[in-house]
Amino acid sequence: MNGKYDIVILGAGESGTGAAMLAKKQGFEVFVSDYGKIAPQYKSVLTQNEIDFEENGHSFNLIEKAAEIIKSPGIPDAAPVVKHAAGKGIPVISELEFAARYTDAKLICITGSNGKTTTTLLTHHILKQAGFNAGLAGNIGDSFAKQVALENHDIYVLEVSSFQLDGMFRFKADIAILTNLTPDHLDRYQGRFENYVDSKFRILQNMTEEDAFIFNADDPVTVRELKKRTILPKKYSLTLNNFPAENGAWLQNNELIFNINKSKFNMTLEQLALQGKHNAYNSMAASIAARLVDVRKENIKQSLSDFENIPHRLEFVSNVHGITFINDSKATNINSTWYALEYVEAPTVWIVGGQDKGNDYSQLLPLVSKKVKAIVCLGVDNSKLHEAFEDYVELMVDASSAREAVVYAYNLAKKGEIVLLSPACASFDLFENYQDRGDQFKKAVKEL
Ligand code: ADP
Repeated sequence: MNGKYDIVILGAGESGTGAAMLAKKQGFEVFVSDYGKIAPQYKSVLTQNEIDFEENGHSFNLIEKAAEIIKSPGIPDAAPVVKHAAGKGIPVISELEFAARYTDAKLICITGSNGKTTTTLLTHHILKQAGFNAGLAGNIGDSFAKQVALENHDIYVLEVSSFQLDGMFRFKADIAILTNLTPDHLDRYQGRFENYVDSKFRILQNMTEEDAFIFNADDPVTVRELKKRTILPKKYSLTLNNFPAENGAWLQNNELIFNINKSKFNMTLEQLALQGKHNAYNSMAASIAARLVDVRKENIKQSLSDFENIPHRLEFVSNVHGITFINDSKATNINSTWYALEYVEAPTVWIVGGQDKGNDYSQLLPLVSKKVKAIVCLGVDNSKLHEAFEDYVELMVDASSAREAVVYAYNLAKKGEIVLLSPACASFDLFENYQDRGDQFKKAVKEL
């Protein structure tokens, strides 16, 4: 290559800026290019590290001479700059692929459609409590590349999205967790679920018999795919059925039983800090990973019971005059909302809606008929929700702000009942993001 720069980084957010720092530290000539405006905190990192950059557009003439391109996960493959680079034969990789070249740390990698963040944080919590020098990265917090550049962890727990996986080729996990597979992000996968599933299975590439793969045996898509594929790493399954596994975890008489390479322990569901069926899966997956790196059983049990829930995921907000308010704003697809509705016990006023991602609401009908007494739609266009549910609940109303939704719900619910925000949709029609939606919901509850 004859350009000034060895490595060009597309996108100057957390991931791109971290990659730039690491590349610079490794002695490469680095250039960062962002199509939009670069946030001030990242601009100052680039300046301090004397890294060249541009914003508000890409200089194709500079980019096309790079030996390698590191692309931030938010930029789709269909973006003109990526197509142009790929057309010139330049390898386009992700930040995780790049950073993994420069660390010998053990890598526990978590992917799947739902539960990634929870499982990642829980696994990291168990390792930290057990005294491990463990880093937490991927889609959470400081980027992996930045930590590889500046810190020195023995082990990392990485949340890995399908967009990261698409740019991963030689990366190898030591332990991989696949939480589940349900349709999401199909707009980036030519509308084809198979493409998205293939992307998720890249988590296993390069793994050997020495490595471990933890999966959910109750997830029909995962089970179907495992029959079709050759899996080299040793398998550990989790199930909430009474189905003893040679290696893995299952449920028996309300107790989780773990059997990991002949080491056994158990724990009741009530002892878990994170409640709900989906969280039992997340707890099982995190525990198996921790046990595989030799965390003691007592430490695992302790950590599973003292973990503090993270905001916006089935988060208890408050009890106002006997009405319980739950914030599940992070539920941005049908599957995660299914688990929220499965979890609630009392009659529920359900706040749902937002930007629809092609949802098929029929899967929720049995739970809605059984548990939901009224629906508050919180979105710009609620017509699809009305069509799907109006024959199944007594009352449906429309709200156009979190405050309005909370006031409606409060008036509709009685003492002992639940108000659940679990939107099954993206938030961008009315809010900045799911955090903003959840925060506005919590604020409105506090103001009641
Ligand atoms: P992700 O990082 O994959 O988006 P989160 O842990 O942030 O996952 O949870 C996202 C949403 O999915 C929340 O509403 C949460 O209650 C729900 N959820 C968490 N774990 C699971 C699971 N194992 N299966 C289905 N839904 C889940």
